[in-house]
Formats: sequence, structure tokens, C-alpha cells
Amino acid sequence: MKTIKQFLQYAAETLKNAGIETPVLEAGVILCHVLNCNRTYLYTHGDRVLETGELAELEVFLHKRSENVPLQYLLGEAEFMSLSFKVSPAVLIPRQDTEILVEKCIELINGNGFNGLTDECSQEKACCVSGARVLDMCTGSGCIAVSIAHYCPGSRVAACDISQEALEIARINSVRAGVEKQLEFRCGDLFEALDGREKFHIIVSNPPYIETGTVKTLERQVCDHEPYIALDGGADGLDFYRKIIYAAPGFLYKDGYLVLEIGYNQGESVGRLMENSFGSVTVLKDLGSNDRVVLGRLKK
Ligand code: GLN
Repeated sequence: MKTIKQFLQYAAETLKNAGIETPVLEAGVILCHVLNCNRTYLYTHGDRVLETGELAELEVFLHKRSENVPLQYLLGEAEFMSLSFKVSPAVLIPRQDTEILVEKCIELINGNGFNGLTDECSQEKACCVSGARVLDMCTGSGCIAVSIAHYCPGSRVAACDISQEALEIARINSVRAGVEKQLEFRCGDLFEALDGREKFHIIVSNPPYIETGTVKTLERQVCDHEPYIALDGGADGLDFYRKIIYAAPGFLYKDGYLVLEIGYNQGESVGRLMENSFGSVTVLKDLGSNDRVVLGRLKK
């Protein structure tokens, strides 16, 4: 027999011993999830005795979390750009660092980014600010595509991924956010998923970018549980950048933007790959002051 208060203590202790960095916080989150309550309830009902069924469920969560299964997979959701996304082990958990990539795209769409549209663009009326056409390559959970659609209500976003399973999660997330009408989903290997005649104003991507040899040195929580296919960027981590940067100009309107998330040490190499086709290449930093995004505008 255990009360909420007793379980909180026991769970925090168990998680701490398993090496979880924020055991007290996570113990509370797990309890709230299983009991379907908020944190205040835990403290105002500390003496409530947990039912056998609840305890059994809590033990399963505790056990899995002790084995480093990410909390977001256990809860089945993760927060990104103040929206809630369904996640499963078929998709990478949205990272806070990726928000800067999305914020940049929103700024380009809603701000001045599309001023001075090219003839090619302005002929197509849909290309006014609200009609921006965006391509999210390697969409995974769809967190980038769905957030852009949500914060730019007039935009239309094509979300591509090689994994059908990931696309199904992305589709569910578009419905959850109420933006499904703005989204299209395409399954395939990078640009093979697209009709060769399609053009976009912005191509955005957070592709796999970890060097093959480094994947297994990532935190256990990441390398043991998140999808390998979403992490491995080839021997030097740049495979996807080469392919995307090579093909992107064919899918962009003149003056279109390519916005890529990169690893902290890839600013220079990805920037160099982009220089040929893209003028004014910029590297943006994340909140931790690491290079995180490379942005280029197609040369006229
Ligand atoms: N930023 C992720 C990590 O550190 C990797 C994401 C990616 O490869 N696109 O685990």
C-alpha cells in the first residue's frame, strides 16, 4: 500500500538511482500522467492511497524510465513551439534547439522575407505573404511543418519523410493542431517524394546529421531509443546536406530560401556546401550560443 506522497518519494529515489537528472520533477510528471491530474492535486491529496491498478501502471512507467526510455515516449507527447505533439519511437523527439529554425521560417514568411518577390513569384498570386509555399524535408513528427502552418495561417506546407510511420504521426499532429488543411504529406527518399514541377518559397529541414561513428556515443536516452535513421548523417554527418543542397535549387522559386538545422560544428562545412548556389549564407546560433541554423537565399 502506498500513498501519493510515499510513491512520489519512492519514485524520485528510484529515478535518481537510475541516473535520471531530474528525478523529483519526473516522478511528479509520471504520477500526474497516470492519475490524470495536475501537480497541485499531488500535494493536496498526498495521503490518498493509490489503487492497485494505478500502482501497477506507475511501476511500468518507472521501470521503463529507469531504463532511459525518454519521458516523452512514455507520455506519448512532447511540447514544441508551445504546441503539443504526439511522439512515438518512430520519430525523433522535438528539440527546443529546433525552435530557432522554425522561428526563422516564420519571420521570413510573416516579416520582410518575401518583400521584393521575383516575377516568377508574383505571377502566382498565392505567393503573397499569406500564401507562402513551404517544404519540410525529413519532417519526422511534423513539429516543424505543423508549427509553421499554425503560426502562418495562410501558408501551405508539404511535409516529406522516407518513413510512412513517421508521416502518420505527422498527419495526426496536423489534425491535433487543426492545420491539416494547410498540409500535404509525401513519402519518399528526399526529393523523390515530390513531383519535379513543384516549387517552394522556403525549403526547411532538420535532417539526420550525426556522424555515423558518433551516433553510439550520444546520450543513452538518445542512441538507445530514438530512431537511428533520424540521426545517422553518414561518415562525416553531411550526406543529407549534400543531397538537399544539390537538389533544392530545382524546387525553389527564384529568391527562395533554404533553411537547415545543423550540428554545433557544421556551420562552416554546410555553409561552404551552400555557397555555390546560394548567395548570402548566414549561420544562426541557438540559445546555448552554438551554431544551429544555416540559411541561404537562392542566387538570382
Ligand atoms: N540534435 C539531435 C541530437 O543531438 C540530432 C538531430 C538530427 O540528427 N537531426 O540528438
